Amino acid sequence: MDSVLNPNVPYYKYFEEMTRIPHGSFHEQPYSDYLVAWAKEHGLHHLQDEMGNVVIYKPASAGHEDRPAVLLQAHIDMVCACDPGQDHDFRKDPLELYVEDGWLRAKGTTLGADDGVGVAYMLSILDDDTLPHPPLECVFTVQEEVGCSGAANLKAEYFTAKRMIGLDDVGGGTSYVTTAGSQIIEFSRQVTWEKGQQKGYRLSVSGLKSGHSGVDIDKERGNAIKIAGKVLFALLKQGDVRLCDADMGSADNVIPSHGTVIFTSALSREQVSATVDQYREIFLQQLQWSDPDLKLELSE
Ligand SMILES: [Zn+2]
Repeated sequence: MDSVLNPNVPYYKYFEEMTRIPHGSFHEQPYSDYLVAWAKEHGLHHLQDEMGNVVIYKPASAGHEDRPAVLLQAHIDMVCACDPGQDHDFRKDPLELYVEDGWLRAKGTTLGADDGVGVAYMLSILDDDTLPHPPLECVFTVQEEVGCSGAANLKAEYFTAKRMIGLDDVGGGTSYVTTAGSQIIEFSRQVTWEKGQQKGYRLSVSGLKSGHSGVDIDKERGNAIKIAGKVLFALLKQGDVRLCDADMGSADNVIPSHGTVIFTSALSREQVSATVDQYREIFLQQLQWSDPDLKLELSE
């Protein structure tokens, strides 16, 4: 396979190699096994736990044996999200890389730079026998994007290091001494199904910029789920609305850019349509700076 990035630069080489091996959250095993094979090939002491977390140890470079160990950390799972209509199987398809205006991108999918960049850095450091460094304990964790479950499963006895550098920053060129956290909440509600007696509608939200739920949340971008929810609630205040289907949101930490809800309503077509028109105006005004391309479409 041809390289998009310069394979003579280890950091580029390891990043690109990673994009050829599926590593979505919960499906990191192939990449976890790649790391184990890599450690064996490089003669480095390593361990792999039952979840797929991997630790690779490298002794200090000559003259630095008396220095305390440093733990480096990155997560190997990536957020798997596709452009609408894109047919990509994250369980087996490699990503298709390309460079546009100096930026590395993946065709129709997320790139996995979070946290492939950290992983590629760690492998480059481990691979370089000319660097002066203390003993290194490099931990590659799984399931970070879905609640840091991999990190939570790590055992203290894997490590001797008391100091850690986490390589999971967004933005670059900045070092932090602490970071934000997140919480994932699951709830369920019993539904009953019935045969539709009323007119059915499809409400589509699209054209939103999306972004990372942490890094871009201050940009006041539109959220397709909230927009559709507000329209449905406005309709519900006027009469009976029954939800048939909702297909929105792709990952916990991606601001939903688009989606569709299907519902039935006892309201007249004109009333439903007028409410959607009214809310389209409201949202376009609210989001005029952050998301001017919002589309809110109703079909019967
Ligand atoms: Zn990350």
